[in-house]
Amino acid sequence: MTKELICINCPMGCALTAEVENGEVISVSGNTCPRGETYAKTELTAPVRVVTTTIISDTGKPVPVKTKAPIPKDKIFEVVSEIKAHTVILPVGMGDTVLENAADTGVDIISARSVSVE
Ligand code: SF4
Repeated sequence: MTKELICINCPMGCALTAEVENGEVISVSGNTCPRGETYAKTELTAPVRVVTTTIISDTGKPVPVKTKAPIPKDKIFEVVSEIKAHTVILPVGMGDTVLENAADTGVDIISARSVSVE
């Protein structure tokens, strides 16, 4: 089976063609660099994403946050729901952990920038 996909690892957005047999990626073409092959293999077998969103603070100010590492795509809804159910106490520094082991993924949620109380 042939699968077409676009590499999202850099602005070049290479159009990739992957040959898949029995759930296994046997070849990838169209990639300009090795990251495209890795992306196609991961995307077609165990897709992952870095999730970015906001978490509410004790003052009501939203704090931009992201997953510290990519998480399985099928866990995104659960992770975002858990983030939305939490409140963070200001101030928060960039890179601070605001939620540990989100939705049992083993991945922490970190602040994407510093947010002061004022
Ligand atoms: S294959 Fe390489 S050059 Fe092409 S979009 Fe992916 S990361 Fe960028």
